[in-house]
Amino acid sequence: MFTDSHCHLSFPELQSQLPAVLDAMAQARVERALCICTTLEEFDTVHGLAMAHPQLWASVGVHPDNEDVREPSLDDLLAGAARPRVVGIGETGLDYYRLGERSVADMEWQRERFRVHIRAARQTDLPLIIHTRSASDDTLAILREEGGFGTGGRAARGVFHCFTETAAVARAALDLGFCISFSGILTFRNAADLRDTARLVPLDRLLIETDSPYLAPVPHRGKVNTPALVPYVAQQLAELHGVDVETVARHSSENFLRLFDRVARS
Ligand SMILES: [Zn+2]
Ligand SMILES: [Zn+2]
Repeated sequence: MFTDSHCHLSFPELQSQLPAVLDAMAQARVERALCICTTLEEFDTVHGLAMAHPQLWASVGVHPDNEDVREPSLDDLLAGAARPRVVGIGETGLDYYRLGERSVADMEWQRERFRVHIRAARQTDLPLIIHTRSASDDTLAILREEGGFGTGGRAARGVFHCFTETAAVARAALDLGFCISFSGILTFRNAADLRDTARLVPLDRLLIETDSPYLAPVPHRGKVNTPALVPYVAQQLAELHGVDVETVARHSSENFLRLFDRVARS
């Protein structure tokens, strides 16, 4: 049985097909999926999916790419996290990929938003779902500043999702105790470096995800992605680690339940 640790079933292309999406998921032996929140405006919909379907869970957070949306306060995130079936904070993090005319200095609002999410995660002891793109140095620096590591207090924990960074960034994330989640990008022909990095991530720290509706794995690349396709990511990881796909399925599901421990307690 597989676990899709990151999907967007609240997005219109999937929500409109939900019965078929859930059906395909069951057929593919994907026993659970975490529905990721990207705006506070969307949160009721994401949460509603988790309340209506026992195999779905929810997060609360505001994606770094979303600019013209309600800015989350610490209290907003704590209130969301207090709802049943909310098991993580995010997705959050930094994304400097679409700077356009702006400089990194102009992105202070993103960094501040990320700090608020880390504080919410530490207060609730829920895992962070971290999105980082073209911003890994600042992502790690802010995590080290805000994360409470080595202080004796409650430290931040979580996952670097849809990982596409270097081996050095993977090692830094692992050193902070984080898990690393791979998406269908791992199956893309031009992702040889990423496949080398994936070999370095131990089986007990790996998660798998679709990030659907985007990033459908080969051989479905370019089509609408759904949680039913997460076994292709597991298969790719199995080949890289020289194990069978069931081993990756078991480890990644166990890792998910250990990290998102509210799932097991619900
Ligand atoms: Zn993301
Ligand atoms: Zn996402």
